[in-house]
Amino acid sequence: MITLLIATRNAHKVGEIRAILGNAFQFLTLDDFSGTSKVIEDADTFSGNATKKAVELAKWLAANNSKLKIENSKPDFVLADDSGLEVDALNGAPGVHSARFAALDQNENSPDVDNNAKLLRLLKNIPAAQRTARFRCVIALVPVGFPKTENASPVCYADESERQVELFDGTCEGKILAAPHGENGFGYDPLFVPDGFEQSFSELGDSVKNQLSHRAKALEKLKLFLTANRH
Ligand code: IMP
Repeated sequence: MITLLIATRNAHKVGEIRAILGNAFQFLTLDDFSGTSKVIEDADTFSGNATKKAVELAKWLAANNSKLKIENSKPDFVLADDSGLEVDALNGAPGVHSARFAALDQNENSPDVDNNAKLLRLLKNIPAAQRTARFRCVIALVPVGFPKTENASPVCYADESERQVELFDGTCEGKILAAPHGENGFGYDPLFVPDGFEQSFSELGDSVKNQLSHRAKALEKLKLFLTANRH
């Protein structure tokens, strides 16, 4: 069975990815490893940040190969999700800055409640018809190349993983409410109503969200890729 290492500590993202990909895969997350360094998400595109997260972790795995033999089962691929909300009335903001929208000058993520409050403040005078938005997700998949001999250079494997990155994307169109609705989910879920529905992602709950979300669409493509390339 293929083992995927999900490059995040966001429990909500992990839960969604596991639920969408299902039992056909085994999963590890960053919480299964100690000593991984924090990746600075400074690219100006979702694909740039997703690639950076996946490749840096694959490099770390190659460099720490001997330690991993003892501590963990080895993943076949690293999977990194970068995602966010694009609001048309804000020219695509918060976009790649979605996680730290409330405090753009900080390197740390802001609490969801602060990000949502800022979004509502900026959209205060925007009428319902112009509150169109979309969630966008890009997932980077990188094979993990473990050196076969003790003295092989991890650098070769890092370069190799950069060449082998595969990207999968998905979007979900919708609109932004005037106030939060619902308790489920994370991030901007209480404010986002997907097209064709009257309730927010938070109110709709995981089973509906996981059929139509940006992440579900990207993961469907990834699943097809992995199934087609399984030897
Ligand atoms: P990332 O972890 O750097 O990719 O940041 C993603 C940010 O985008 C999250 O912190 C949320 O603010 C937002 N986001 C991405 N996907 C979702 C989703 O499915 N629901 C709600 N917010 C999301």
